[in-house]
Amino acid sequence: MNADSYGLKLNEQSSEQTVYDYNMLMSAMNVSVSKHLMDENFTVVWANDYFYSQTLYTKQEYEAIYHNSCRKYFEQYPEEYEKMALAVEQALLKGKSGYECICRMPRKDGSCSWIKVSGMFSDQKVNDIPVIYATFIDVTEAVEQKELQQQLEKRSQELQAALQAAEVANREKSDFLSRMSHDIRTPMNAIMGMTDIASAHIDTPEKVQDCLRKISLSSQHLLGLINDVLDMSKIESGKMTLAEEVIELPEVMDTIVSIIQSSVKVRQQQFDVRLRHIRHEQLCCDSLRLRQVLINVLSNASKFTPPGGTVSFDIEETASENAAKAWFKFTVRDTGIGIKPEFLRDIFKPFTREKDSRIDKTEGSGLGMAISKKIVDLMGGTIEVSSEVGTGTEFTIRLPLPISELELGNFKFSDLKIIVVDDDVIVCEHTTELLRQIGIRSDWETCGQRAVQKVLAAHQAGEPYDAVILDCRMPDQDGVETAAIIRRAISEPLPIILISAYDSADVETKARQAGVNGFMTKPVFMSTLCRALQRYVLGQAAADEQKSKTDFSGKRFLLVEDNALNREIAMEMLESAGAVVESACDGAEGAAKFAAAPAGYYDLLLMDVQMPVMNGYEATQKIRASAKTDARTVPIVAMTADAFAEDIIEAKKAGMNSHLAKPLNLATLVREINKQLQKH
Ligand code: ADP
Repeated sequence: MNADSYGLKLNEQSSEQTVYDYNMLMSAMNVSVSKHLMDENFTVVWANDYFYSQTLYTKQEYEAIYHNSCRKYFEQYPEEYEKMALAVEQALLKGKSGYECICRMPRKDGSCSWIKVSGMFSDQKVNDIPVIYATFIDVTEAVEQKELQQQLEKRSQELQAALQAAEVANREKSDFLSRMSHDIRTPMNAIMGMTDIASAHIDTPEKVQDCLRKISLSSQHLLGLINDVLDMSKIESGKMTLAEEVIELPEVMDTIVSIIQSSVKVRQQQFDVRLRHIRHEQLCCDSLRLRQVLINVLSNASKFTPPGGTVSFDIEETASENAAKAWFKFTVRDTGIGIKPEFLRDIFKPFTREKDSRIDKTEGSGLGMAISKKIVDLMGGTIEVSSEVGTGTEFTIRLPLPISELELGNFKFSDLKIIVVDDDVIVCEHTTELLRQIGIRSDWETCGQRAVQKVLAAHQAGEPYDAVILDCRMPDQDGVETAAIIRRAISEPLPIILISAYDSADVETKARQAGVNGFMTKPVFMSTLCRALQRYVLGQAAADEQKSKTDFSGKRFLLVEDNALNREIAMEMLESAGAVVESACDGAEGAAKFAAAPAGYYDLLLMDVQMPVMNGYEATQKIRASAKTDARTVPIVAMTADAFAEDIIEAKKAGMNSHLAKPLNLATLVREINKQLQKH
């Protein structure tokens, strides 16, 4: 390499020593110096040793492989080449004397180094092409350090954000805990206080009774809070599973409606339940969870609506692309206080409750919505909400529910003609649609007076109706009055069925006196309608209708329960219904008692699950595996504190017939035992 190759004008005295010094200096400085043509390849005219040493190629290799073309050298990294070309172009455009850029440079071993390039435009030309002098230094360490620093900064920002989120979540949880402890303490105080008052007035039965009623209410509230917290922790740990059981939609809705009716009644609100296009009634799903979601949304609707307001509940079967699944749309609308937009966004987040002076006194855990959302997600459905402050709120829940029966509409009635009277057009349309599906001609009317005229006109024309279906609650002339007028006007027997959204016991006596033959509760499902028509119109006795008995006289049950207090409560309940109850203190004793008794001695076994010595599952397995003739048929009902799907599945696997959640409640206990006794 000679001195000229570095573009230096050396005078006579400089000679070789100067060139050597220069080379040494360049190498010591770790600087690459090169001369390029300003052509499209940025062709290398010459370069110092450092240039080549940075590529890890020898000069010969570089020339042989890349023919001095920088473009070719950067072929695998076009973006880096573009970066340099752009720096040159912009410097030229701005009339600068040189340019700078930092880019990556590939190396022979596949690695890359970071270089800082500085170039200078010169007046020189080679073959009429202008020339650039370029130097570069290796800045890999600096760039990497910078990158590392940036990464560190990013990481620390992320950590900061995570910390903030954790702090917010923690604050929400602490807020929630302090609110919860207040909420738990309130009913707890009531229970303790009422217990003291009851003890002090033990000789005044009315006072004790009143205290017990209040204790019972507070306990129920407390239990609700605890269940919510347990549910939420199950959900948060991903342990919530759903049971797959066959449900009768009318039955599930009936329970929901009757629960909501009591709170709606207390608040003197109007409650409308409407069905639309229901084609399937027997479905598969976790009825407990379905009820939980709908009751939560409905009870909120009632809770946050002032007296006199309206709550409506619409159940619609919508189109489904999958023949095995029916899609249901449940819409709950209220004319209540509404939800502020800023809270609406967070409504499905756990531990949130709107801070609002209007509702501060309302009790609740603030978990209901979050739990509902999770359950709906688990069921594969959606839940949406829209609300306007001061106007009301609307929740829409869409759920796919597997179908477990043939399509409805297989019932066929002889050629009947019926009139439906309800002030709600949707109910009229739905009921007449159901009638049409089972081959019945029908008319509908929204006003009692006009309905009477229609009935009379048809009668006089010799084409009388075969039955009248009347809504109980109508604005001008209610169902009972309408029935009375029809009865007075027509002497021939004409079945009149009253549809009632409220507990029909309220109006039953008055309605019977007015001439009503039978009752149907809202919402009117196909099965409700068919049963009523069979019973009241076709005159078939409802022999098959299974009336719930609360009389267990002559029945003997074995109660297996280790906790003395629980045993006492359950025995008290069963004996009050007339049953003879024997008991055992653990699974082993229970199995032994069953084995020692003659076949058929016990009508039913109630089995606690968690017990010392032998638990309920093992005891049931032992009983089912024994040789007694009734070993496999005697109904065994599990009683556990955890009413979770997994426990229910476990109980079924062990051979138990059904499952009751503790604390026991007389109505559900009686209902479940009746169900089992009727089956066996
Ligand atoms: P809570 O047990 O407090 O009712 P939820 O999770 O069920 O808890 O509801 C959370 C909050 O959402 C309620 O406290 C209330 O502020 C608001 N909310 C829910 N439903 C309604 C509604 N229909 N109208 C007005 N506010 C509602």
